[in-house]
Amino acid sequence: MSEQRFSMTIQGRAVPGNATIDVVNPATGLVFAQAPDCTAAELDAAIGAARAAFPAWAATPLAERQNLVRAMGQRLFAHADELKVTLTREQGKPLGDAASEVKAAGYWCLSLAGIDIPQTVLDDNPTRRVEINRVPLGVVGAIAPWNFPLTLAFWKVAAALLAGNTVILKPSPLTPLTTLQAGALMRDLLPPGVFSVISGSDGLGPMLTAHPGIDKISFTGSTETGRKVMRTAADTLKRVTLELGGNDPAIILPDFKVEANAEALFWAAFGNNGQICVAAKRLYIHESVYAKLAGALTDIARSVKVGPGEDEGVRLGPIQNKQQYDRVTGLIEDSREHGHHFLTGGYIPQGPGYFLPPTLIDNPPDDARIVAEEQFGPVLPLLRYASVEDAVARANSGIYGLAASVWGTDLHAAKQVADRLDAGTVWINEAQALSPMIPFAGHKQSGIGVENALSGILEYTAYKVITVPKTAVAA
Ligand code: NAD
Repeated sequence: MSEQRFSMTIQGRAVPGNATIDVVNPATGLVFAQAPDCTAAELDAAIGAARAAFPAWAATPLAERQNLVRAMGQRLFAHADELKVTLTREQGKPLGDAASEVKAAGYWCLSLAGIDIPQTVLDDNPTRRVEINRVPLGVVGAIAPWNFPLTLAFWKVAAALLAGNTVILKPSPLTPLTTLQAGALMRDLLPPGVFSVISGSDGLGPMLTAHPGIDKISFTGSTETGRKVMRTAADTLKRVTLELGGNDPAIILPDFKVEANAEALFWAAFGNNGQICVAAKRLYIHESVYAKLAGALTDIARSVKVGPGEDEGVRLGPIQNKQQYDRVTGLIEDSREHGHHFLTGGYIPQGPGYFLPPTLIDNPPDDARIVAEEQFGPVLPLLRYASVEDAVARANSGIYGLAASVWGTDLHAAKQVADRLDAGTVWINEAQALSPMIPFAGHKQSGIGVENALSGILEYTAYKVITVPKTAVAA
């Protein structure tokens, strides 16, 4: 693996780059590969190629663009076995989850490619015609995070290309490799310059966001970075789509059936080691089921195998990177210092690797850091409530509004609670049911704009209205 060369894709060609960044395997904490560190000149070249390719790509019939995006999806499926190995090594997730992620990226391409972009005729009468077209914006800079490097990147890439834009994709410096490999797979598929993949150190994101040759930034990452992206994009009035952080509440109603559903609830919180923007991050549990559910979740947490993603039977790999590991261990230390009660976990194993056991904290106060902040890791506060009124108010507190879930047998009661939650998506008796055909958008400081479905594709377009008075041509 260490001899494997990863190169950027610029103008349809491999660009190894002159400088490199190190990539760490989070299961060992050791550097195992290098990725190119894109220079300002290479970024200029990628943007120049994307601008040159734009007019022809925008003029390509939608059906042809759809076929090419479908073909991209098929390539991802065809190469899932090699991509999943790289993804596990750089991201940490178990091989089975890595394979699912690669296939999800492919599935998103195939599904989004089935969506047509409508042209609306607003008015067409004997005196006047008004039509509304949606036209592409130009060059899109797509910036992805490290938790689902490939899937979240291809949400953007597929939608932006379908709308007729050219795209420059930048993965996180912590997980660039699978994305670089995916870029290489597309080199002979798309016209040169239509889709480029660049990688680099922390400075590359700001360079891309500030560059006057970029028309839109589609960003997925933390709320803190999202603010910076918006600030920088303001100088050239770039369009932005921001998919940001969340501190998703799950409300467990009194009629929740613990035996049947505890497992689903556990994975709603701990899937991908809690490193999911829409993971359940605060569980509000009615007092009548609190003890039983806390017991069931504790049993599940203790039975889950944590270890290197390449090992058989492992369900949870390491935290993806040292900085995040330090943040999550900091939250554990903070809870310990404040005397919170740990139902399970709460200790920090000796290295190597950034491993943590799934940790449950028993009813910490609402102002505890583990409740008020997005943990983005395998530590979950269980919070007791007596009245649904109280649970809803507590769930709606804070700066985030990404997603939420409600769990209970009476679907009418659950729906009433869902109606009152301030979040872009509310799931009832399920979680993370994301789909290429369902719009996904955050409320409050969880984001601006929308991804997926037709609405997500239209985010990569501008209105173009054409009006013609039919009676005014008397010459
Ligand atoms: P991050 O904000 O640190 O980084 C995201 C990306 O932005 C990376 O590619 C990074 O290199 C780049 N970047 C960093 N600084 C930049 C700058 N100033 N200008 C432009 N780009 C810059 O996020 P992360 O740690 O990779 O991801 C975790 C966060 O992402 C969590 O908060 C999580 O909730 C959020 N997230 C949100 C969604 C969603 O769809 N809403 C999905 C996944 C993750």
